[in-house]
Amino acid sequence: MAVIDIAKTKANVPTRGFFDIELNPTLDIFAEIERLKRKKNAVVLAHYYQEPDIQDVADYIGDSLGLAQAAQNTNADVIVFAGVHFMAETAKILNPTKTVLLPDLHAGCSLSDSAPPALFARWKADKYPNHTVVTYINCSAGMKANSDIICTSSNAKAIIDSLPANEPIIFAPDKNLGAWLNKQTGRNMVLWNGACMVHEIFSLEKITKLKQRHPDALLISHPECEDPVLQVSDFVGSTTQLLNYAIKSPAQSFIVATESGILHQMQKDAPHKTFIPAPPNNTCACNECPHMKLNTLEKLYLCLEYGTPEITMTEELRLAALKPMQRMMDISKAAGLLK
Ligand code: SF4
Repeated sequence: MAVIDIAKTKANVPTRGFFDIELNPTLDIFAEIERLKRKKNAVVLAHYYQEPDIQDVADYIGDSLGLAQAAQNTNADVIVFAGVHFMAETAKILNPTKTVLLPDLHAGCSLSDSAPPALFARWKADKYPNHTVVTYINCSAGMKANSDIICTSSNAKAIIDSLPANEPIIFAPDKNLGAWLNKQTGRNMVLWNGACMVHEIFSLEKITKLKQRHPDALLISHPECEDPVLQVSDFVGSTTQLLNYAIKSPAQSFIVATESGILHQMQKDAPHKTFIPAPPNNTCACNECPHMKLNTLEKLYLCLEYGTPEITMTEELRLAALKPMQRMMDISKAAGLLK
C-alpha cells in the first residue's frame, strides 16, 4: 500500500477510487475535511445508512427524498455524495453544472441492479405498453429515463394517489414496497420483481423471539421489508419517518427493521431511548448495507482533496431522467411534502 501525505503531488491519482492509498496516520481527517469544504465550496450530503463518522461530518443527513431536495437547493460548487451510486446520479441529474463526487464509485445497490433499464423497457413494451411507470428513486439514471414518475418511500403513496383510480400502473423496482403500496392505496399495480438485499433478510422468527424478550419495544419497519415483517410491525415508514416516529413516540424502546446506520441518528436524537437492530436471517447478526459501507471517512477526504471519482452522464440521459424526477417534486410540493 502506498502512504500518501497531504502535501504530496496530485499526479497519478486514480480516477475510480483510492483503494490502495493509506493516509498519513497523523492526519486530522475531520479538520482536513472541514478545511477542504471551505476551500472548494463543497457540501457533504450523507444518507442515514452511512457510517457514524461520515454522518458526523455531513452538512445534511437524510433519506432519498431529503437528499434529493438538499442536492437541488445547495449553492455549493461541489457535492460529495456519501451514499450509493444511484443517489449521486440523482444529485447530478438535478445539478448538471455542479461537480458531484462519490467517495467509492463501486458503492452500488442490489435493488437498483435488479432493474436493468434495457430489460425493463423490453418487458414493458411487450406486456404493458399502456401502463404508467412509477419508479422508486432507488434505481439507475437509465431506469429513471424509462419512468413516468419517480417516488421515494416518503412520498410514494401521495404520488400514486395523485393518479386517476383507473390508470394502470407498473411499480418498479421494489416488489415489497410495491405490495405494501398496493395495500395502502387499494390499487393492483403490476410489480417488477426487484428487492433490497438488506431489507429482505430480516427474520420474522428471530424478531418474534426478540419481541418476547422486550415486550415493551415497538417494532418499526421500512416498507422495503417483506410482508410478514410489515404485518407484525407497530409502524411502517420511510427512514426519516421511522426516525421522527422514534423521537416523538412515548415508547422508550424500539426494534428497528431497516439498515442499522439509522440507529446512530436515533440514538443521537433520543439518547435516553433504547434502539435494537432487528435480527437478520443470517449468522453474521448484522444488517448493514455492504454497498453503503464501501464509503469511508478516508475515501471521503481523498475524493474531496482530489476531486475524483466524479459522476458524469450524457445530457440526453440526464434530461430523460430529470423529467420523471421533476414530476415527483411537483406532486410532492402540491401534496405539502416539500417546501
Ligand atoms: S440498503 Fe438496499 S436499497 Fe439501500 S443502498 Fe443498500 S442495497 Fe440498495
